[in-house]
Amino acid sequence: GDILRKRKIAVLGSRSVGKSSLVIQFIDNNFVESYYPTIESTFSKSISYKGVEYDCDIIDTAGQDEYTILNSKHAIGIHGFVLVYSVTSRKSFDMVQVVYDKIIDFCGMNSIPCVIVGAKTDLQQSTTRQVAPTEGEELAKSHHAAWIETSAKNNVNVAKVFELCLGEIEKAAPNSNAT
Ligand code: GDP
Repeated sequence: GDILRKRKIAVLGSRSVGKSSLVIQFIDNNFVESYYPTIESTFSKSISYKGVEYDCDIIDTAGQDEYTILNSKHAIGIHGFVLVYSVTSRKSFDMVQVVYDKIIDFCGMNSIPCVIVGAKTDLQQSTTRQVAPTEGEELAKSHHAAWIETSAKNNVNVAKVFELCLGEIEKAAPNSNAT
């Protein structure tokens, strides 16, 4: 019979790196230019990955900084993490490491299913890019995480983020039906 596979994915990173835009582009196929600081929202979407249907909850967080204490909601019961930085912000890239360490610490594990996302690539013509693709790749490699660059504005690699995340979750716990 059909097995319903439920997955919880948390989207974390500095404020205004494009977390909500990424999630809204994925859920609604829509990009809104104006900036509404996120409180926190959870979206549900069914995602088909390698012929399997996953019932996903995507938690769009308000954003973190070096002083934020990780919310247990963003660690306990979460299957996969999407850690977002903006390719135009070095500070937001450094924050990925900080948030990663907080999750690891909180979960008491030495690695977590994770995708590191370099957002806003469409801005590299007009604004100076501050993070090279190779730096993102290296950081991901050091954590055995996946890495990708996206543009929510131009809908580049947006769905790929969540497919990669499911891939990382499956790598960590193959065929798990955990809810
Ligand atoms: P969050 O605080 O991380 O959720 O960031 P938002 O999604 O609210 O985005 C912050 C700002 O960056 C908003 O003004 C967005 O319109 C803008 N933004 C987000 N993603 C992109 C993108 O891919 N390209 C461009 N050019 N702007 C983006």
